[in-house]
Amino acid sequence: MPELPEVETLLRTLLPFLPSQPIISTEVLHEKIIRPLTSAEFDQALLNKRIVEAERRGKYLLLNLEPEGKLLIHLRMTGQLFYKKANGQALEVPHTHIKLGFANGDSLEYADVRRFGLVTYYHDKIEDKGYLNLGPEPLSDDFTAEYLWTQAKRRKTCPIKSFLLDQKVIAGLGNIYADEVLFRSKINPKMAASKLTKNQAETLVAAIKKVLAEAIVLRGSSMSDYLDANRQRGSYQDKWRIYQRDGDMCLRCGNEILKTKIGGRSSHYCPFCQPMRKRPGNKLIIGLTGGIATGKSTVVEMLREIGAEIVDADEISRNLTNKEEAVQEHIITMFGEEYRGLAGGLDRRKLGDLIFQNKAAREKLNNFLHPQIVMRMQDRIREYMENKTDHPLILDIPLLFEAELEAMADLIWLVYADEDIQISRLLSRDNLSLKQAEMRLNAQIPIEDKKELSDFIIDNTGTLEETEEQVWELYQRHGYKIMI
Ligand SMILES: [Zn+2]
Repeated sequence: MPELPEVETLLRTLLPFLPSQPIISTEVLHEKIIRPLTSAEFDQALLNKRIVEAERRGKYLLLNLEPEGKLLIHLRMTGQLFYKKANGQALEVPHTHIKLGFANGDSLEYADVRRFGLVTYYHDKIEDKGYLNLGPEPLSDDFTAEYLWTQAKRRKTCPIKSFLLDQKVIAGLGNIYADEVLFRSKINPKMAASKLTKNQAETLVAAIKKVLAEAIVLRGSSMSDYLDANRQRGSYQDKWRIYQRDGDMCLRCGNEILKTKIGGRSSHYCPFCQPMRKRPGNKLIIGLTGGIATGKSTVVEMLREIGAEIVDADEISRNLTNKEEAVQEHIITMFGEEYRGLAGGLDRRKLGDLIFQNKAAREKLNNFLHPQIVMRMQDRIREYMENKTDHPLILDIPLLFEAELEAMADLIWLVYADEDIQISRLLSRDNLSLKQAEMRLNAQIPIEDKKELSDFIIDNTGTLEETEEQVWELYQRHGYKIMI
C-alpha cells in the first residue's frame, strides 16, 4: 500500500505536467471509485477544467482545478495514477478505471486492480473524514517528540505499532515504514504506546523523519503495484532492514527476524534488538568510518582513551586468517593445497600475492570472509547489548558504506578530511605518486558522498586538539562521561 514516500514521489512526478490543458473528456469504468458522484455528474463536474496544482497530505493527493473544484485521490491498496503523453508509446494499462482526456491529447489515468481507492470530486469544501482528521505531517516542524509522547500517553493499551499507523496521530505512516522506524528505534511493536519514554519518543521521531526522507530520495518502495506518475518503480524496498525479512538474519545482531500480527497487520521485528523490556544503561552502537587517509585511526584512539569500546573490523579480518584454524582450512580448500604453509596452516604471504594480482581471487576470498567478519562483529554487538556497562560501542569499519553495513549501527560518524588533504597525506605518509594516490581515492565512494550518508561529521582537517574537542563534544552529547 502506498505510504507517504510513494505518494510524495507520485506528486513530484506529476508536477512537471501541471498546469494541465483543459479536460475535454472523461471516462469512468468503475463508478464506486468516484462515489458519491455518478459518471455523468463526474463528467459534468470536470469538463473544461484544468488541473493547476497538486499537493500531498498524508497518503492523500489533492488536485486543485480551475476555475473551481478539486479532486481528492487515495490509492489505498493498489491504486495507480499516471500521466500519458499523446505522443508517448501506446501502453494500455489493465484495470484502468478512470481517464481524464486533455485538449492536447494527453491523459491522466487511474488504474486499481482491487478497486479500494478513491477519486472524489469536491466543488469547494472537502468532506472526507479521513482527510479532515489527519494528524501532523511527520516531516514538518509540528511533528515533535513532545507531541508524539503526549499522544502516546493517552493510549493505555494500544500497541505502539497500531498507534503509529493511526493517521490521526501521524499523517502518512503505513505498515512498511512503521516497522522500519520501530526497528531503528529498538522498540518492540507490541509495547503499549503509553509506556513510551521521552527518550524513546526522541529516537522514534528522529527515525521517522530520517527513514521517510531516505525513502523519498529513493522514490519510495515498490512491491508489486506502486508506480509513480511516469510508471517508474521506486527502490527503497532494497533498503528495508526489517519489513518482510522474517526468517532472515537481523542485519544488526544476526538473530532471526520474526513476524507477528498486531491489530490485524503483519509486523516484522527482531526480538533481540527490540526487546519488550528496554535493556538498562545508555547503549549506542556507532559506526565509525572515513575515507582513505582522513585520520580515522587517530579518532579511534581518542575514543578508546575516553572509555569507548572498539570493534575493529580490520583486526577481526586479520585474526580470522591468522588464528582461526577452521577459517584457514576453508581457504585452503577454496584455493588449493599449494596454499598450505610449512607449519600446516595457511600460507598468508602466498595467498596475499595471489589476491593482490588476481581480482577474481580477491572477490572469491572477500565473498567468504565478509560474512565471517560480520558474524564476529554481531557476536560483539550481542555481548555489548547484554552486558551492564555504560559506554558506546564503536564499530570501526573503514569500508562501512562500500560494504553496505549501515544497518549494523544506530548512528554513523564520519571522520572527514577533504580530498586535497587526503591526497597530500597519501603522498607524504605512504610515499605514493599523485597518480597512485588518485587511484586509491577513486576506488572508494567519494568522501563528499559519505558526508551526506553520515549522521555526524568529525572534521579532521585542523589540529589534533580541534579534532579531540569535537570527539569529546559528540561523546558527551550522547550522554557519556569522559573517563580518563
Ligand atoms: Zn537484531
